[in-house]
Amino acid sequence: MAAYLGDWLERRDAPASDLDLVVLLLNSLDLLADPADRLTSLAWFREVLTDVGRGDLARDLRAADLGPLRDLRESLRAVFAAPAPAQAAALLNPMLLGAGAVPQLVAAGAGLRLEIAPGQRGLAALQARLPAALAEHVARGGTTRLGTCAAPPCQCAFVDHTRGRTRRFCCVACNDRAAARQYRQRQRRA
Ligand SMILES: [Zn+2]
Repeated sequence: MAAYLGDWLERRDAPASDLDLVVLLLNSLDLLADPADRLTSLAWFREVLTDVGRGDLARDLRAADLGPLRDLRESLRAVFAAPAPAQAAALLNPMLLGAGAVPQLVAAGAGLRLEIAPGQRGLAALQARLPAALAEHVARGGTTRLGTCAAPPCQCAFVDHTRGRTRRFCCVACNDRAAARQYRQRQRRA
């Protein structure tokens, strides 16, 4: 029951990426969880951000950020529902502009690294970095790897990293639930 952690669970040696955080934010609404919506205060999100090694973002969130964070969640969800890359672009471009998601070169060891809005903290950082991570993913691979769980009532999001783009469920529990349901249906028909 940790769909919200997405694929980060399988390689928890590094902090969650910004794309992992997109999935995490979307799955703060999990229809199989009780309560389904964990984003009614900042407590859960702060705790999970810290768990996945992104305490830097959690520290700078303020109570007033809750509404805009919920808005960001729904804007990102719309991208997952976009039928094609063009529609995803039409949703993402205004988000990137509005959040000032400008890449900047910052020092990294002996060299430089390109970072999105490195001067931003907390909510502003999330508003810039999460759409940017999703935009980068869409630019490279289109929208076919942005998935929604196929085991109702679950609607959790995932990024499909399988070679054949065959992933259908957000987590093992939903996979098992769907398999059990299919088995029962076959039994009834037999
Ligand atoms: Zn699911």
